[in-house]
Amino acid sequence: MVDTVQPFRLENGEPVIIGTECGACQHTWFPAVTLGCERCGTHGEGLNSRAFAMKGHLLSAADVLPGTEKGFSLATIELENGPAIRAILAESAPLKIGASVLGRIETVDDKSVVRFYVNAD
Ligand SMILES: [Zn+2]
Repeated sequence: MVDTVQPFRLENGEPVIIGTECGACQHTWFPAVTLGCERCGTHGEGLNSRAFAMKGHLLSAADVLPGTEKGFSLATIELENGPAIRAILAESAPLKIGASVLGRIETVDDKSVVRFYVNAD
């Protein structure tokens, strides 16, 4: 079964993103979409929720509304053990494409959100 309620959580103290894995061809994606696998068409019970570690590398980044109070950086991040996702970066462009990034669950305006940080190690 695919859980579409909460897209992230802590698992053994580590933040994870909840996406979907196809049981037939092992294709993975995020966010969870239950219509069917975009690669092989498997649907329903053939799809499973899967937790992906919030570790990956930067494929692209762009500043949205730069220089304003509402500005943020939107990134495409390829997860180490999962699909490429779109996410909010805590840092502004320019950023090094290929840099390793780590996600954290933070509280902003009383809501839990995920933000990715460039990994400085
Ligand atoms: Zn599939």
